[in-house]
Amino acid sequence: MTLEPGEVAVSVRGSALGAFPGAECVGLVVDAGAAALHLQGQAVIVPRILPCGECPSCRRGAVIACPQRRARPTVPQAYEVVPARYVLPLVPPFVSQSPLSDSLWQYAALADGLLAPYTGLVRAGVAPGTVCVVLGVGTRAALTSALAEALGLFVVQFQPDDYARLDPDSARRRVAELAQAQGLPLAGACIVETVGSDAARARAIRMAEPASSILLLERSQPLGGSLGQLVAEPQGGAQLVSVAVLDSLLSSQSQVLAVAPHPDLLTELLSLCERCRIDLSSLTRPVAVEEIEAVMEARRCGLEPDLRLPVVQYPAR
Ligand SMILES: [Zn+2]
Repeated sequence: MTLEPGEVAVSVRGSALGAFPGAECVGLVVDAGAAALHLQGQAVIVPRILPCGECPSCRRGAVIACPQRRARPTVPQAYEVVPARYVLPLVPPFVSQSPLSDSLWQYAALADGLLAPYTGLVRAGVAPGTVCVVLGVGTRAALTSALAEALGLFVVQFQPDDYARLDPDSARRRVAELAQAQGLPLAGACIVETVGSDAARARAIRMAEPASSILLLERSQPLGGSLGQLVAEPQGGAQLVSVAVLDSLLSSQSQVLAVAPHPDLLTELLSLCERCRIDLSSLTRPVAVEEIEAVMEARRCGLEPDLRLPVVQYPAR
């Protein structure tokens, strides 16, 4: 197969079964076009969204609206041809040393699972000590919490039972108590909604604090909105999506940010992971190719063994 000058062929080593299975991967460049020869043989992270980088949407940072963004697989693949522009080589100075071949798969967590919340938190302008409420109790929430802690934020996450039961007002009271105990202001808080269902989003908006940022992650692909186990729908449902939702935004003068992982930020995310020693091995678990269906089915049934991100591990070819 002939590659375009700016393309690379990647032999996938790890493909995360996150919110967008098939599109969150890491691998080795086994072939490179004429303009990308410097990547030949290198281990690279392939960010989930691969925009053109040139169109009006891209120039304004709205990569998800890029009409030319590369279509990505929706099931894990052992091999993929992608534009070289946004792949990130796992070599110094981006990492202190290149990861060993047998731990490379774990870096698939950066392609979307960590990059999506990272993009949102950067856009919200968080600083150490910002109160960060992570809504959701699945894998995506676990990754978001780990990242927020690495950024020095004060993370509040609800236990699964509480998460499903809490109405916005009780949830706000709980957050206020925890923040007050730490002497932290609620103004400027960041609320990250990781589930993606309508009811979960409406509840997140109704939890707005003064000048807060409410980050809404995209709906996950395979499950039509809810990601994973333990992800119970908040009670109340669609009637929450109403004028009352807008009123809570107005009365708090908050902003709602629709978050998509920006590939430009992958480099600094990787630096953060290195600097703060984010332990990818505690956030991910390996899955064999033969287990993909079983893992996805377990997730649909809410039977996942734990909150680590499953990553399909492909052997070296
Ligand atoms: Zn574009």
